[in-house]
Amino acid sequence: MKRALFEEDHEQFRELATEFNAREISGKYAQWEKDHQIPREVWQSAGENGLLGLAVPEEFGGMGIDDYRFRVVLDEEFVRSGHLAVALAFHLHDDLVLPYLLSYGSAELKAKWLPRMVDGSTITSCALTEPGAGSDLRAVRTKAVRDGDDWLISGQKTFIGNAAFGDASLVLARTDGESSRAGAHSFSLFMVERSEGYSNGKPFDKMGLRASDTAELFFDEVRVSATDLVGEVGQGLSYVKAQLPQARLALAVAASAICSASFEQALEHTKNRSTFGQVLTEYQNTRFELADLKTEAHVTQSFVDRAVLAFNEGELNASDAAEVKLWASESAKKLSDKALQLHGGYGYIMEYPIAQSFTASRLLTIFGGTSEIMRETIGRAL
Ligand SMILES: Cc1cc2nc3c(=O)[nH]c(=O)nc-3n(C[C@H](O)[C@H](O)[C@H](O)COP(=O)(O)OP(=O)(O)OC[C@H]3O[C@@H](n4cnc5c(N)ncnc54)[C@H](O)[C@@H]3O)c2cc1C
Repeated sequence: MKRALFEEDHEQFRELATEFNAREISGKYAQWEKDHQIPREVWQSAGENGLLGLAVPEEFGGMGIDDYRFRVVLDEEFVRSGHLAVALAFHLHDDLVLPYLLSYGSAELKAKWLPRMVDGSTITSCALTEPGAGSDLRAVRTKAVRDGDDWLISGQKTFIGNAAFGDASLVLARTDGESSRAGAHSFSLFMVERSEGYSNGKPFDKMGLRASDTAELFFDEVRVSATDLVGEVGQGLSYVKAQLPQARLALAVAASAICSASFEQALEHTKNRSTFGQVLTEYQNTRFELADLKTEAHVTQSFVDRAVLAFNEGELNASDAAEVKLWASESAKKLSDKALQLHGGYGYIMEYPIAQSFTASRLLTIFGGTSEIMRETIGRAL
């Protein structure tokens, strides 16, 4: 069945993404994994090539593209080539930080941050999670206290992508004073720039996606101007809730790309490997496994493509997004595992893309809301 998601413009954009991937990433990625860092020049080159901040309006340096299919193209290209950490790093910048600034930022805030995010000169992270607050964001303890017109931010965040080498972070903090019990209006969002009192831990030694840095962030009375408050005081949690569909759709897109890539990589390997005098695809078991992989990858892709179109129409609600993230991430975990098995020992070696897919997919049922939280979301909406 022909896939109906893309049109001519998307395929042209794919050529640009493929070329960027080959020129800027291939052959260099293994070193970045050792460094736990995607070099700054790559961000800048992505900016120059129009691959960052696609949705940013032209007046702020972007292209004003609100068709999510272009983001899908980019993700698919990085995943297919095994450069999954680049997909994650750009996802944090474009899908987790940017939508808040576009939806709730004042004109002043947009003028300050958007051009720098589009040209790749400012790398951003999204800092929600804390040591005591992951699934339960009401347990966030980082606080923001007024000091004249400014705010002073203090606290600790953990597991933050782009934190170690990034320049600024979108931070969820309590703004209701210390003693009161946190409620729906206790939190606000701020853009916090690296400055006095802002520091980070060393990148965590992750099992996968090792080229992207994930680290702790520490804020010790970091001064933030009133301009950098995102939207209104007390609306932080409601903004996070409202933006969940895009964040979760983005992870579903990456997961679906992993499913398709897992099938293609398993097919390629088994067609070229022999045991006991037979090519692996001559065994019925291999063909059955490949048939399952192909079918399940297609089912997942159809579901995710439908969700992408619904998102473009403004119709993807929180429960729909949870369904698609739950299905796609659990499928990616299962399919990459099966595909790895078909690679034998080669599947366990990180230079094989299937090993990248396997370790990356393990994150996708946790990050951006665990599968259990997805089930809660879907179940509560019934
Ligand atoms: C590599 C990596 C990158 C990340 N990047 C970022 C980032 O850039 N920014 C950011 O803010 N965060 C980031 N995170 C954090 C991630 O979103 C959290 O790890 C995730 O939300 C889960 O929170 P937790 O780790 O505190 O687990 P917990 O909330 O402690 O959950 C532990 C277990 O309990 C289950 N559980 C919790 N509550 C319930 C419930 N009500 N019902 C049933 N089961 C429940 C969970 O499903 C899970 O299985 C990242 C994490 C990792 C590992």
